[in-house]
Amino acid sequence: MKKILVIFLLSTFSLFGKVEVVTTIPDYASLTKEIGGEHVNVQYLVQPTQDPHFADPLPSHIVKLNQADLVVHNGAGLESGWLPSVLKQARNSKIVSEHSIGNLNASHYVTLKEIQKESDRSAGDVHPEGNPHFYTSPIELFKIGKEISKRLQEIDPKNRECYKKNWDIFEQKYNTKMVQWIKIAEKIKGKKVVVYHESWIYLLEWLSLSKRGALEPKPGVPPTTKHILSLLKHIESEEISFVMQELYHPTNLSSMFAKKSKSKLLVLPSMTDGSIWDKFDSILEKLSGEKI
Ligand SMILES: [Zn+2]
Repeated sequence: MKKILVIFLLSTFSLFGKVEVVTTIPDYASLTKEIGGEHVNVQYLVQPTQDPHFADPLPSHIVKLNQADLVVHNGAGLESGWLPSVLKQARNSKIVSEHSIGNLNASHYVTLKEIQKESDRSAGDVHPEGNPHFYTSPIELFKIGKEISKRLQEIDPKNRECYKKNWDIFEQKYNTKMVQWIKIAEKIKGKKVVVYHESWIYLLEWLSLSKRGALEPKPGVPPTTKHILSLLKHIESEEISFVMQELYHPTNLSSMFAKKSKSKLLVLPSMTDGSIWDKFDSILEKLSGEKI
């Protein structure tokens, strides 16, 4: 029985003929499902309602990673508080090293913003390696999707043509959706926003929105009344349209800030609970007030 279990754990790919993929955030799972289609089995570790900086390492993560042929993680420090320990405990030689084909660090394929000269977590800053929230931009997700397609072709060469075909379909859909999204973005261009956590710079740049401040004094350090009052003073002569925050942050201080600054609080999905298309449709709908 024990022997059968060991064989089962070591050869899930060959037994079921599907590539077992584990992603940290749901957005990479959505990309992998579209590109891998029927040849992949995809699971993700962080729920869209969970802060990916502070996810708890769970025994279920270890089980999933133990059986993976490919792990797709964000990198740039986003999961550094919990992923290294579960990866190590999963004892899976296919994915444990960043140099192996089964380990895809998404941050290596995007243009990182806010890279700091000196990396320092001591003051509570959770972005010491640069801003890791590039999954809030479809442009960066497209680049990661392209690398997922390449990896699947390498890991599972017998289905290479299928992955290529799925990638072409993905690319076409991306181009169509981008035209639609950019048309809506034109109408909100230049609006001023305040963010809760520094999760949105990739999205703001894509949509040409102007960030005037953040409720957190530093990324990962909760807002204080003192900081909020000083920010209110700083923006008092400006017309702020929106306060933007994720689903997993509390709304008490952000609501207060929105009221005082006569702006609108938008609680937006930084990660998807379905597909990446749904996520950006939902964000653009909330920002523009238009139904997509
Ligand atoms: Zn962050």
